[in-house]
Amino acid sequence: MATTENKTSFQRLPCLVTPINYHIRLAPDFKKFTFEGSQSIDLKVNESTAEIVLNSDKLTIENGADQCNVKLPNDNKTINIKEIKYNVEEETATLILAEKLVPGMNAILNLEFSGELDKNLTGFYKSRYIGPDGKERFSAVTQFEPTYARKAFPCWDEPAHKATFDITLVVPVSDNDDKMVALSNMSVKEENRDSQKRRVVKFDRTPIMSTYLVAFVIGEYDYIETRSKHGVLVRVYTPLQKSEQGRFALDVAARSLDFYTDYFQIPFPLSKLDLIAISDFSAGAMENWGLVTYREVCLLVDPSHTSTSRKQSISLTVAHELAHQWFGNLVTMEWWTHLWLNEGFAMFMEYLCVDHLFPDFMIWKQFVSDTFLSAMNLDSLANSHPIEIPVGHPSEVEEIFDDISYNKGACINRMLYHYIGDENFRKGMKLYLSRHSYKNTQTEDLWNALEEASQKPVRRMMTTWTKQKGYPVVTVNCQGSNRLELTQEKFNSDGQLSDADKTMLWAVPVQVITAKDVQKPQAEILLEKRVETLELGSLIDLQKEWIKLNPFAMATYRVQYQQEDLFIRLLEEGIGQQKLDPADRLNLINDLYSMTLAGRKSSDVLFQAIGSFRNECEYSVWTVMNVILSKYNQLLYGYDFHPKFVEFGTKLITQKVFGEIGWDPKPSEPHLKTLLRPLLINRLVTFEYPEVMKKCHEAFDDHVAKRKSIPADLRSAVYRAMSSQITDEIWEKIMKLHDEAELQEEQMRIQSALGSVKKPEFIERVLKFAISDKVRSQDTIFVVASVACNPSGRRTAWEFFISNYELFKSRYDVGFLGNALIKSLIENFQTEEMAHQIEDFFRVNPNKGWDRSIQQSIETVRLNAALMARDTEKLAKFFQ
Ligand SMILES: [Zn+2]
Repeated sequence: MATTENKTSFQRLPCLVTPINYHIRLAPDFKKFTFEGSQSIDLKVNESTAEIVLNSDKLTIENGADQCNVKLPNDNKTINIKEIKYNVEEETATLILAEKLVPGMNAILNLEFSGELDKNLTGFYKSRYIGPDGKERFSAVTQFEPTYARKAFPCWDEPAHKATFDITLVVPVSDNDDKMVALSNMSVKEENRDSQKRRVVKFDRTPIMSTYLVAFVIGEYDYIETRSKHGVLVRVYTPLQKSEQGRFALDVAARSLDFYTDYFQIPFPLSKLDLIAISDFSAGAMENWGLVTYREVCLLVDPSHTSTSRKQSISLTVAHELAHQWFGNLVTMEWWTHLWLNEGFAMFMEYLCVDHLFPDFMIWKQFVSDTFLSAMNLDSLANSHPIEIPVGHPSEVEEIFDDISYNKGACINRMLYHYIGDENFRKGMKLYLSRHSYKNTQTEDLWNALEEASQKPVRRMMTTWTKQKGYPVVTVNCQGSNRLELTQEKFNSDGQLSDADKTMLWAVPVQVITAKDVQKPQAEILLEKRVETLELGSLIDLQKEWIKLNPFAMATYRVQYQQEDLFIRLLEEGIGQQKLDPADRLNLINDLYSMTLAGRKSSDVLFQAIGSFRNECEYSVWTVMNVILSKYNQLLYGYDFHPKFVEFGTKLITQKVFGEIGWDPKPSEPHLKTLLRPLLINRLVTFEYPEVMKKCHEAFDDHVAKRKSIPADLRSAVYRAMSSQITDEIWEKIMKLHDEAELQEEQMRIQSALGSVKKPEFIERVLKFAISDKVRSQDTIFVVASVACNPSGRRTAWEFFISNYELFKSRYDVGFLGNALIKSLIENFQTEEMAHQIEDFFRVNPNKGWDRSIQQSIETVRLNAALMARDTEKLAKFFQ
């Protein structure tokens, strides 16, 4: 296994010569799937040199003197390029010049080059779609973050090398080329035809920006448009004849732009903003300045086929990418080490914005059950990493687009936001964004601005959260009737502390609520030392009453209550009688769950506590309960008491909450109830609850016979129910629905539901389907993952991966898709033997881009094994 000791050696580009402006002209060919390019780059010569080193990957640079040279316009002179040396591993090209350049020279580098339209959805790549006539067509689109601009044109492809761009696109001649749109970051400046009758589209010059934010698209799209309150022209581009599906996103985009403009008090720097749905797209979306690209499922809404949760997630994604227009695009991290400055902030801001646009979503409650918990879980592993992490080679950069940069980043921002307050936060943001506009920053620059604005020790506090991996558990020890002794130590999911761990300390903003007032903290302290005491005064009698730390799960730490009787009171009154806010209820149970995984508590105690949620009807709390039930369903599958566990889980859901929520949506019910219904039904489908299975069958039959369509919110559950009881006949019906579905969301829903099949011959069939032409490469991962997350398919999915290893590696060797695949394939196993086997496999078949995910997943397998060794007997006893 690769470890930090044998990292690939890596050096950033030398700065002897740097770019000021790029004139780029690109002409794709949709028959050969290639492109030709030419560019002139205005250079700044910083030191004397006869070598220019820049990034270039999989491009062929012409080296004839006519196409490739350095011009010195002031001297009316041309310097030839003697030789071009490529370094494939470093993704660079070194141009050896015939003469030295010296500082102060006005130099222009001219290059001609060619490349292939990429198949792996990076750089300048082709995207396939079916036109309204049913025929296959292609568009050419880009994905440059983090390090793929160099696959489209030779450039200084590092975020700190900002420059301006004059982009020209040449539309290939075809029978429909006049209907094609050519888009880039800026508005069209002029358009004419070249000698080959091709359309040549020139765009306005961009502001100073990083290469990874450059974008272009050539293809057939329809659009709808509006103007934001502040006058920015906003368009949503969709597949042909689907422009109405962009309506929801258009509204969210225009309103988000206004929200951020008002919040940051800095206008959107461009005159237009396009959002476009791309049929082949690897990530969820990409914030290219002025031309934001999305997966179709992350942008398009069809009123009769789009689920409520999908719509909510589209609003978050749109708000996320638009936050980047300031946070990331206007002000950019100096190097990928500070990636979290982009992602942690965009993720925090997306919630702030959506909470403003859609108050009924109660989105902050969902923040705790989604973002907060996944960050905390990942960050307790030994193979986690600090938010600020040294990275070099592109494969390492790709790996840190993970839950630490995004989710933990967002969590510590939320903690800071509440620590300094909204007004100071706004002031600090404005200061930071205006001070560093069109420039690059490091994490400290942000802390300085927020510290200036708030006059609080932001820098000292936040450094403990970004430079160290992990987070603390605070142990609460009651002393007498009103004093707390607080002790912090690192929380590790294996319950062990290394010597280095033992020295770690965080600045933890600890707040305490009491039974008397669960909304307003009664005491607080910034816990910076190992142990501190906190006086609660005459407010409370700890012998009789209860308290809770970390109200609303505002801060990123866990709590362990030393006194058993206090904890029991907390459970009985806080949860059983629902005296606590939902965020606190879910925070309590999740802390207990993590303590259980770490061996600080045992599983029977956890399930005893879960029993006290019998009256629970809150969506966010059920999200966490669902995570716990799902984990134990994986772990206990195959044990003779597994059916008893299923019975326990079913009863927990059916005794109250399911009765209240029911199968049918109620008119104008609250948003969170609408989200809770599919969550419960999906869980009951997994548990094969007969009443629900019957309903699913009926709904499916009606849907297929076109008598009554299944509400979009319930389709996933129904398709999963049918898959779990699959026959050839059902398979045919499901496939027909899949092939006829026009919306990618519906296709993906069916594909993932197929992962619930149980019969071995069908498991094989689903896995083969996953890599067939019927499933887009970007979606294959989710089909395989759904099989791997099904206890009956886990083993087969792993074996399938091994036997198709080269295929998976060639498609997903770097990037988020491959890493997601690795995790889902591995982390549900639970034996030391399996951990060994997986380790052995990757020792012989390594892939650098997955290293961290492999290590994290194997660690999880070992944690599962340890948990089962500790708790199996106790669980057996509990469920018997
Ligand atoms: Zn982002």
